[in-house]
Amino acid sequence: MRVTLTFDNGPHPVGTPLVLDELGRRGIPAMFFVIGAKAVGAHRALVARAASEGHVIGNHTWSHSGPLGELRPPGAARDEILRAQAAIASFASDPPLFRPVGAAPGGIIDRRLLNDEAAAVLRDGGYTTALWNVLPGDWLNPRGWAAPARDRCRTVDHGVVVLHDSYPDGLAHLPGFLDALIDDGAEFCLELAPECTPMVAGRPGPCFDELVTTVFPQEAADSSHPSTSSVDIPEDRNVMRAMRAPGYRPGDFEEEL
Ligand SMILES: [Zn+2]
Repeated sequence: MRVTLTFDNGPHPVGTPLVLDELGRRGIPAMFFVIGAKAVGAHRALVARAASEGHVIGNHTWSHSGPLGELRPPGAARDEILRAQAAIASFASDPPLFRPVGAAPGGIIDRRLLNDEAAAVLRDGGYTTALWNVLPGDWLNPRGWAAPARDRCRTVDHGVVVLHDSYPDGLAHLPGFLDALIDDGAEFCLELAPECTPMVAGRPGPCFDELVTTVFPQEAADSSHPSTSSVDIPEDRNVMRAMRAPGYRPGDFEEEL
């Protein structure tokens, strides 16, 4: 089985060094999808360290303020992508990688992830869009995420795992998780499963439009307009629901993915 490990929402002064130490000890490469505003702050050196140790650095928006398909006003989604990319430019992959902020509750993949403005920025910038197919909910269940995550990795040909270096509590189980994957014979790689890359180097695939909300001018002009872009996604299209953590309550931690 192939596994791509990804760590989101950093850099974090405790979590990021811990992750880098554990990965380095085992010679495992990973992707770090960093928040732009954090990457220009006091912990920028951690992003540099990750890059220097062979990990891939991707863009996870400037402020992580919500799914881009729900951002208002016009220009906000563009800024979220481009400001973050500028912040990580000296470390960023080529082609650039962008991971959208997952929709509430709990990182759902649907058309709230992007709006048409964001889609145009990604296309014009030649981005590869990085989704996920293993979401263990380390931030919801810091003591219990590892076993179901291992099970999930065994059921997919190529698992793209989302964890959070921004959550040190959940990282206590990272060493055991890594060793379990090694025991399972996992091949760790820095590629993304095809179903997790709806856009490659600016070229949208057939499912890309399913991630994009069209913002109508009259709605975009009215910043008080509530978000109404949520859509029903059939159960089998939502890989997140299979990985929802025990004890999950809708609304919990929805800012974090
Ligand atoms: Zn996130």
